This record gives sequence, structure tokens and C-alpha cells, in this order.
Amino acid sequence: MKKELADKIFNDFPDMFKYRDNLQASLMAFGFECSDGWFKLIYDLCNNINTFYEGKIPEHFYIQQVKEKFGGLRFYISSAPEEVHDMIHKAEERSYFICEHCGKEHQPDDGEYTSFYRDDLPWILTLCDECLDKHIKKRYAKIRKAKEDYISDWQKEHKAPFVKGV
Ligand SMILES: [Zn+2]
Repeated sequence: MKKELADKIFNDFPDMFKYRDNLQASLMAFGFECSDGWFKLIYDLCNNINTFYEGKIPEHFYIQQVKEKFGGLRFYISSAPEEVHDMIHKAEERSYFICEHCGKEHQPDDGEYTSFYRDDLPWILTLCDECLDKHIKKRYAKIRKAKEDYISDWQKEHKAPFVKGV
């Protein structure tokens, strides 16, 4: 997640991230290890937790790590009552319905949400159709370039003419 968005969460809920520079207690020094599309989901979750504690975060409560894993949000905390765990669980479940890149949610007329979870890729991702398309194009461009670089290196080494399409 880009710095300005991460800073907004850190600045608005400083007591939840009090150990963010202490690598023994928390991994928040690495920031939010997911893309910008989940900013609102994470911000709202922090806000709900803050409201639950009526703005007074108890000493024992802090956030240890926030990241994407296997296409879903993971939100690790020290310890908390069941209500807080429920909020976290709901946000983690919802992440599969929110594009991790652009934050788009699928809201068809019938009110049924559609998952953006893609498990048919080399890496599991949660992306809307447009972002998936961009992601695939980018990936193929990268693979193509790696192949071309490999061929030209081989060509240099062997001083062989490169025939396109062979
Ligand atoms: Zn998207």
C-alpha cells in the first residue's frame, strides 16, 4: 500500500499501531502488505475497532501484521474480545469481494455480491475483470521480455543469427 494511505491509517489510529517500529512485537514496520484497493476496508475495520473501544484502545491491544495471503486479507492482532475478532473475520471474508488493486466491488442489481477471487492463476489474486486483464498483459510482457533477453544473450554467446519465429 502506498505511503500516503498507510500514513492516514497510522495517524488516525496511532494507539493501535503503537509497536509499529518494534519488530519484536509487530511487523507493521513493513507497512500494510497489500495493494491500495483494500485501503477503505482496512480503514473502516480500524475505525470499527476504535468505536468498539470508544476511542480508548486498551494497553494490551495492538495490531501485529496486515497483509494479503492467498488472495485474502489477513489482520493479526495481539488479543481482543470476541466482538473484535468477529469484525476482523468479517473484513477478511469481505476482502475476496473487493479488487485488491482498485477497490472496486461487484454489486449487481440483484444484490448478490460476486467474488473476485482468482485461483486459476500461478498466484492467487483478488482482482476485478479490468485489473485482472491489466495484470495478465503486464505479466505476459514481462515473460516475453525475459525470453527475448535470454535469446539475445544466447545469440551473443554463440554468435548465431537469430531467426524470428524459430
Ligand atoms: Zn480492479
